This record gives sequence, C-alpha cells and structure tokens, in this order.
Amino acid sequence: MKVIKFGGSSLASATQLEKVLQIVKEDVSRKFVVVSAPGKRSSEDIKVTDLLIAYYNAYLNNENTTELIKKIVDRYEAILDELGINKDVLNDIQQAIQQLATLPKEDNPHLLDAFLASGEDNNAKLVASFFQQRGLNARYKNPLDLGIIVSDEPGNARILPSSASKINQFKATEEILVIPGFFGFTEAGEICTFSRGGSDITGSIVAAGVEADIYENFTDVDGIFVAHPGIIQEPKTIKELTYREMRELAYAGFAVLHDEALMPAYRASIPVVIKNTNNPNHPGTLITTSRTIEHDPVVGIASDQGFASIYISKYLMNRELGFGRRLLQILEELGLSYEHMPSGIDDISIILRERQLTIDIEEELMQRLEHELEPDELRITHGLSMLMVVGEGMRQRIGVMADSTSALALNKINLEMINQGSSEVSIMFGIREDQEKKAIQALYQTFFEE
Ligand code: ASP
Repeated sequence: MKVIKFGGSSLASATQLEKVLQIVKEDVSRKFVVVSAPGKRSSEDIKVTDLLIAYYNAYLNNENTTELIKKIVDRYEAILDELGINKDVLNDIQQAIQQLATLPKEDNPHLLDAFLASGEDNNAKLVASFFQQRGLNARYKNPLDLGIIVSDEPGNARILPSSASKINQFKATEEILVIPGFFGFTEAGEICTFSRGGSDITGSIVAAGVEADIYENFTDVDGIFVAHPGIIQEPKTIKELTYREMRELAYAGFAVLHDEALMPAYRASIPVVIKNTNNPNHPGTLITTSRTIEHDPVVGIASDQGFASIYISKYLMNRELGFGRRLLQILEELGLSYEHMPSGIDDISIILRERQLTIDIEEELMQRLEHELEPDELRITHGLSMLMVVGEGMRQRIGVMADSTSALALNKINLEMINQGSSEVSIMFGIREDQEKKAIQALYQTFFEE
C-alpha cells in the first residue's frame, strides 16, 4: 500500500488535477492521497497559501477582506469550473473561508495556523469530490479523525509519538482517503501547522503511521538533480540515494523535499520516491535506507553560500588543556552555533553561518577569542561557500578526494578548507563564493561527464 502526496503545482488547475486522477487510478495500492493547497499556475500567479496570509493580515488589521475572500474562493471555483463537475462542494469551501474572519483575534496563538491550514483543508475536500465524481471510492479525511496529533507550536508543529498507533488503524482502508497536508491538531484540539512547505511532512507521517510500502512524493521535477540546474544545464537526475546522502545534499541547499519530511519515513524505514506529475513514467529518485553501490562513487554535488570561517592558531595548542572547551563556551555564550570545526595540531577553524553575525556580535566574539584564548593568529574570513561532494560509494573507492582536488586545482579554485567526516559520505570544501559556479562545473564534469 502506498501513500502519495501531491504538491501545490500538481493541484493548481484542472489540467493538473486530471493528471493526478490518472496517477491515482493507475495503481489500486495508492490509498492515501495527501494534498497541498493549490499552488501557482504560472510564475506570476499567487499560491493560495500566500493569499490566505494576506487575508489573515487584512483581518488582523481590521481591513476589508471581501476582495481577498473572493480571490481565494475564485481559485477553487475556477478549478471546479474547468473540471466541469458538480460544484456542491464549493458551498462548504466558501463558508469555511468566510468563517475564518469570525475567529477570535485576541489571545489566539492558533489564528494564523487556522487560516493557513484552510488552503489544504478545502483543497482536500475539492479533490475528494472530484475523485468521487470520476468514479473513485474516495473520501475526505480530516487530520483530527486520522489521528495526526501534534505539539502546540504554532507554525512549527511536531508530530507526537502517540499519533502512530491512531493512524495505523486506517491501514486496511478500502476507500481512498484524501488527506489535507500541512497541519495537525494539538491534544487540546487546536489547529497547528508544520513549517512552510509542510505537506511533505504530513505525507511522511501518514506513510510511517500506516506502514506503507512506499511514500510517493509527486512534484514538478523528474527527481533530484545531481547538481543545481541553475549552474549545470540539464543535469542528470539521481536514480537512487540513501537517507544519509539526501541529508548531506539537503544541508548544502538541495531542497526538493521539506527537510523534516524525511524523518518519520526514515525512522520507519519506508522508502520515498520523488516523481513528476507532469512526467509520471519517469522513474524519479528513490530514497532508501541502503543502496547497492554500482559504479558511481558520487551521487551529487551541492553547495551553499553564506559561511564565515574563524581561523585560530596557537603554538602547542594540542597540549593546552581545555582550549576547545573555552572556545566553544565563548560561542555558546554569544548564542552562536557552528557548522564545522576542522583542526590541525596547532590550529583550528570554526565555520559558521554568517547570518548569525551582526557587526556587534562579531566584534565581541573576536575580542573575547583574543583575550581569553590568547592565540598567535586570529582572523575571520567572510563570503565562503561550502561545496559538498556526496556519495556512500566513496568509502569503497580510492581517489575521489584526489579527483576532486585536481579538478578544482586545474580550474584555479583555491581551497580554504577541506573536511571529510568519518562516515565518509561526503567531502566538503570551503571555497570563495565567487568561485562556486566554476567549482561545481568542474566537479560535475569530473564525476558525471567523463
Ligand atoms: N501550502 C503550504 C505552503 O505553501 C504547505 C505546502 O504546500 O506544503 O507552505
């Protein structure tokens, strides 16, 4: 049995919904259908979720909401009209959207969540009605009835462990259950959404809860690319990768799935496949707990900008008891988290995200490091990019590091830092941001073209 999730672009218009219907019809094991709110139909279009945020702001500021309500309801109506089906469900949708503006504003930490969630909730009703009218045995299923119980953290909810056994009761469903993504209910019965893009999380939770054979995540690309398509023209797609590889790539900016979405599926060892609604015959990208490594040691190359590196060197650092602790304590006291800490005998670098460093914090940090650690050398470099070469196959293959560094050297890319974690799933290079594009191209050529 399969859990299948469709993103907003797969549900933005009648044309897209027809494709969705075909996909669900094609395979009787697709019993749990998780949906996002209608997304953009074109690049200028506005997602329903964003319209709901505008509606929420207008309501909060006592502005006129009539236009916005109409705009939102019109989106659903346009889809129903284009589908040419019975529009009974529209009354429900209209009422639900209008009623949002009767919810209490004072002392209501869940107000925004109620607005946001209605995008997916109403879409699930629409999709269920569409499926029924096209002869499928389908039904809308509310997350509360399904047992998606979450922590009381508005806009950033987490699933509670007690949900799993509740959701599991629906495992043997005969009907197709159409479930709105993106939100659950607290134990006190309040609506709470996951963070933005969180319908992926719902899909993963449901897949884990019903012990699905696979979690199919349908989006608008053929799968995960081996490198960023903004840098490499028509990059290859990854056929299969492990959760660990995915995590490494996601860390450095690969954002196909919501970061947190892998967790429930990973814990339950459920494979995830990313597929394209517009090209469903493409096999997509499969994410599994383990994979057989055939030829290619590298699955993907990613990079992320916005890092700074603090270099500290001190003669006989290796013998100075407590040096590392004092260093980390300074970071902690300034509320700074670090990403990597490559070190040598007498030196250490701290790599952190630049966005944490205001001018004041940076000044205080450098002063404290100077006074409390008394280094021989201390400097900070801004504008770094972390380049990651990822692949479980590296462990069995000699020379991935050599191939990478020589490709980078040939292209005159200066390496500010090299880091290979002990898991040997990735090699990381710190380079200057302005050399990032060239570096990715050089590595792509080395590992995917030659
Ligand atoms: N509709 C929500 C958003 O735009 C959730 C989702 O699409 O996954 O963030």
